[in-house]
Amino acid sequence: MKKENVLITGAAGFLGSHLCDRFIKEGYHVIGMDNLITGDLKNIAHLNSNPDFQFINHDVAKHISIEGDLKYILHFASPASPIDYLKIPIQTLKVSSLGTHNLLGLAKAKNARILVASTSEVYGDPLVHPQTEEYWGNVNPVGPRGVYDEAKRFMEAMTMAYHTYHGLETRIIRIFNTYGPRMRLNDGRVLPAFIGQALRGEDLTMFGDGSQTRSFCYVDDLVEGIYRLLKSDYTQPMNIGNPSEITIKEFGEEIIKLTGTKQKLISLPLPQDDPKQRQPDITKARKILGWEPKVSRAEGLKITYAYFKSLNKDELNKVEHKSFEKYVK
Ligand code: UDP
Repeated sequence: MKKENVLITGAAGFLGSHLCDRFIKEGYHVIGMDNLITGDLKNIAHLNSNPDFQFINHDVAKHISIEGDLKYILHFASPASPIDYLKIPIQTLKVSSLGTHNLLGLAKAKNARILVASTSEVYGDPLVHPQTEEYWGNVNPVGPRGVYDEAKRFMEAMTMAYHTYHGLETRIIRIFNTYGPRMRLNDGRVLPAFIGQALRGEDLTMFGDGSQTRSFCYVDDLVEGIYRLLKSDYTQPMNIGNPSEITIKEFGEEIIKLTGTKQKLISLPLPQDDPKQRQPDITKARKILGWEPKVSRAEGLKITYAYFKSLNKDELNKVEHKSFEKYVK
């Protein structure tokens, strides 16, 4: 029997590549799309000769045409780290606005169900804690993160409009900080930054006094949440993340212990609009999807550290930046 097609955008990225693996495992034929601005073909190199996988190098902000039927579309293309927003702000805006519009049009034409990757960044620097889906957020539209936050908020609005106006089958996931193998070592986010620094024997660059908090979810847990949300009939935005919250200072200390580095935490200036606290309220995911994270930070970090340790020296040393300072004017 012919397998059903799933289109995954951002397929060569961290989350996209894990989703390709999962949907192939579930018996689908996956069409992976990426323009490789921040994605890397090495994340999907293991799928090269897999007949259930096809790669298309394309920018979703430009018209998309796909032959044949599509069962599902998962829109995971976007730069995802604050340093990338500063380096490529226009592409960041376009992929979640024009790109989302193109994909919604494609979903309508193919009668496909579409799941879009939104983010905890829609809550901005949140004044409600933990963040429930009902909270509307506290976002600075013209700050350095505005290009990402506002594009994702537009994505949600556009997706709901296609749902209500065209009756399209849509799903919106709000993803909180996620980590695991295949994160880009030099993407600037805190986990690859700290582990990369520990492996190179550099001090760990903590921004501000490290009292800001984040809640880190292991990638396998996230992928399970995405899969369940896609298959559910829930059409409102849903938080998926791990509620275990930690300060960045404590997180740095965990990485120092895990890696056994002799280096220490040093403090650099806190970037503008850096959210002070973040923790998902996952009551809805628990109730509606029967989902909750299973992998503890200790387990997840061990696996992720092993991945970064396995990278070759060239990759480890290919770091374009050491801090935000270079990009903040
Ligand atoms: N951070 C840090 N050192 C780094 C990179 C990030 O202290 O080298 C901090 C950053 O200021 C933020 C937190 O770690 O408070 C998480 O940053 P990340 O870029 O990973 O993601 P965010 O959740 O801010 O989008």
